Amino acid sequence: MKYALAVDIGGSKMEIAVIDQFGQIRGETTKYRVPFDDQGIADPVGLLDLMEPHVTAAQESTIRLEGIGLSVCGNIDIETGEAVLVANLHWHNLPFGPMVEQRFGLPVFSATDVRMAVIGEALWGAAKGVRHFAWATIGTGYGAYLFLDGKLYGGEHGFAGNFGHNTYDEINGRLCGCGLRGCFESFVAGPAIARAGQEAVDEGQSQMLADRAKDSPVTTRMVFQAEQAGDPAAKKIIADNIRLVGISLASIVNLLDISLIVLGGGVTKGTPDYISRIEAKTRDYLMTVEARRELRIVPETFSNSVLYGAAANVFIQKGDLAFAVDA
Ligand SMILES: [Zn+2]
Repeated sequence: MKYALAVDIGGSKMEIAVIDQFGQIRGETTKYRVPFDDQGIADPVGLLDLMEPHVTAAQESTIRLEGIGLSVCGNIDIETGEAVLVANLHWHNLPFGPMVEQRFGLPVFSATDVRMAVIGEALWGAAKGVRHFAWATIGTGYGAYLFLDGKLYGGEHGFAGNFGHNTYDEINGRLCGCGLRGCFESFVAGPAIARAGQEAVDEGQSQMLADRAKDSPVTTRMVFQAEQAGDPAAKKIIADNIRLVGISLASIVNLLDISLIVLGGGVTKGTPDYISRIEAKTRDYLMTVEARRELRIVPETFSNSVLYGAAANVFIQKGDLAFAVDA
């Protein structure tokens, strides 16, 4: 049996698991908070320190690790493993992949989280055997990755799918972590929902949210809970969110003529019907009859498809596994 250590570094959490070549987790998934310094920059050495016991434990057991699959929530150069631009970690041109390789002496295969999720879904999940699909995530950030004609589609630099940083409104929008203003991400990701909820409290528009957020700022979860309880301000925030996500997902479908989008990320778990509402709203903005008839938007297969994909990527890179797409 072959194993890989899968590491998923998100905007606030890092998850680690040992996964075998059939996509089964061995033991448990461990979650950590990403350590940040005083300037809000994620601490790479702190992350290596958190990874170390997992590598050591594997090495001290009978498991032989084929390598480390490293997923990071930003633009990663898949050839060099350099973190080119990771807005949520405030990393610019940080050679994180090589740092991991040097520290642990194992082959490291790095990629952006959305690419990893596509690999996991295409190999072991909802998109198994599907020729064209996109994976999109709405969590701390908002992004996507593409699988076209039976292959991962990274574009010229491996950065394809950054539609969360398409501009929605540069006049009224906020400065985004990527450096642009008014990106879709800054309107629809989790922090935007929480911020809109806080604004509703500050402007006296939601007694329900004010009651829930007596001792702490409004969270994304609170907004979803208030929405389910019928609070008008929260209902408007979530309706706006679903509308904007629908507009941007429809643009992917109109551009590429794909019929499947797999949707992951914390925001999609806000309410049980969130994804079906997104699917219905996205359909409103589709151009063709075929797209309106055939589009399916489904939840990610695993609780964290990124982690599975990070492991699968190790096996693919080493030639142990390959995608199989229907002709
Ligand atoms: Zn942006």
